[in-house]
Amino acid sequence: MTSNQGNGAPCYSGSDSLAVHAGREDLTALGVHAPPLDLSSTNPLPGVEAGGESYEAMATGGHPTAGGNVYARLWNPTVARFESALAAVEHTEEAVAFASGMAAVTAAVLAAQLRHREERGGGVGHVVAVRPLYGGTDHLLVSGLLGVDATFCGPFGVAAAVRPETCLVVVETPANPTLELVDIAAVVEAAQGRPVLVDNTFATPVLQNPADIGAALVLHSATKYLGGHGDAVGGVVAADASWAGALRRVRAVTGGLLHPMAAYLLHRGLPTLGVRVRAQQASAEKMSAWLSAHPGVRRVHYPGTPEGDPTGLVGRQMRGPGAMLAIELAGGYAQAAQVAERVRLFTHAVSLGGVDSLIQHPAALTHRPVPPEARPATNILRLSIGLEDVADLQADLAQALG
Ligand SMILES: *Cc1c(COP(=O)(O)O)cnc(C)c1O
Repeated sequence: MTSNQGNGAPCYSGSDSLAVHAGREDLTALGVHAPPLDLSSTNPLPGVEAGGESYEAMATGGHPTAGGNVYARLWNPTVARFESALAAVEHTEEAVAFASGMAAVTAAVLAAQLRHREERGGGVGHVVAVRPLYGGTDHLLVSGLLGVDATFCGPFGVAAAVRPETCLVVVETPANPTLELVDIAAVVEAAQGRPVLVDNTFATPVLQNPADIGAALVLHSATKYLGGHGDAVGGVVAADASWAGALRRVRAVTGGLLHPMAAYLLHRGLPTLGVRVRAQQASAEKMSAWLSAHPGVRRVHYPGTPEGDPTGLVGRQMRGPGAMLAIELAGGYAQAAQVAERVRLFTHAVSLGGVDSLIQHPAALTHRPVPPEARPATNILRLSIGLEDVADLQADLAQALG
C-alpha cells in the first residue's frame, strides 16, 4: 500500500481506502487534486531509438513505455491510472483496460491462445465455458469468430470438458441473467492447471476477489458497476504481470483501446463503488423479499435467498448477495412484456450496475443471440437495483404488475 503523500510509506490498506486513493498516489507531488486527463494520440520523441524500444516491447509483451510514450495505441497515462487502481482493488499485479467488456473478453481469449501456442508449439486452442454466461460472451464463443473451439458445460462439467489443448476456462458468477452462483475454487481445481477467467462484473471487487482464490484473469464490463453512472463504456482484465504483457500486446495490435476520457470517468467511479454497491445491495435485499411475496411473481432469483445460494457461497466466496435480481412472472411472457413496458421509475433498458434502476427482458434482448437450449425463459425479467428509495421502486413495480 502506498502513501498518497508520495513518500512511499504505507498509510492505508482497507479496500475502500484503496478504491479512493489507488491510481492517485502521485497527485499531491504533482500539485493537483484530480487526476490529469491526457488526450494525446501521439507523443513527441526524444530520439529515434527511444520510440523503437517501445514498439519492440509491444511486440514482445514487455512494457510499452520501455522507451517512453510513443503512441496512444501502445499506452496512455490516464488509462494506466485506472488500470493500476483496478489492479489494487482486485488484488492483482496489473490490469489492462479495453474499449468495452466484449473487447476485454476477445483479448483474453486471444491472449490465452497466444500463450497456449507459445508454450505448446501450435494447434488451435480450446475454451471451456461454464453456462450461463452473458449473452455476448456466449455468442462470441459459439460463433467461432476468434478461431477457437469452445465446449459449453454446467458448473460441475469442467473436469470432463478439459482437453490437452484447453487454453482457458471461462466462468461468470453471479451469472447473467439468473444469478446462479458458481464455486470458483471448485472450477479452478477442475480446470487442472488451465487458466480460469472469472467475469466479475456482477459481484464487483467490493463483494468478491476471484484472484484470491485462484482465478488467473478477472474480467469486468466496466460499463456497469465500476463506472456506475451509465455514461462510459469500457472493459478491464486484472491479472499478473505476465498475463498483462500478453493482453497489452493483443490490445496494441488489435486496437481495442479504452479512450482516456472513458478511463477518467471509470476511475472516478471507483471511490464510490463500495458505498454504491452496499446501498444498492441493501435495497435489492428488500426488493427480493417484497417481490417474493407478490402474487404476480412466481419466483425470485437472488443470491440472498436460500434457493439462490444452495451451497452457501455468500459469506464464503462473496461478501454479500449483490444488487442484481431476476423474477419469473406468473403471467408468462405477456406479463413480463407488460411490466417492462409499463414501468415509469425503472428504465426499460439493457446494461446494469448504475445509480438508477433498470429492467430488461433477457430472452428478448441481451440473450437473444444465445442458442435456444441455453436461452433464459420468456417469463423472466432482470432487475438492476439503483439508489432510489425502495418505497418508490416498489410502488413502480406494483403499478406495472397491475
Ligand atoms: C455487459 C456485460 C459484458 C459485456 O460488456 P460491454 O461493456 O457491454 O462490452 C460482459 N459480461 C457481463 C457479465 C456483462 O454484464
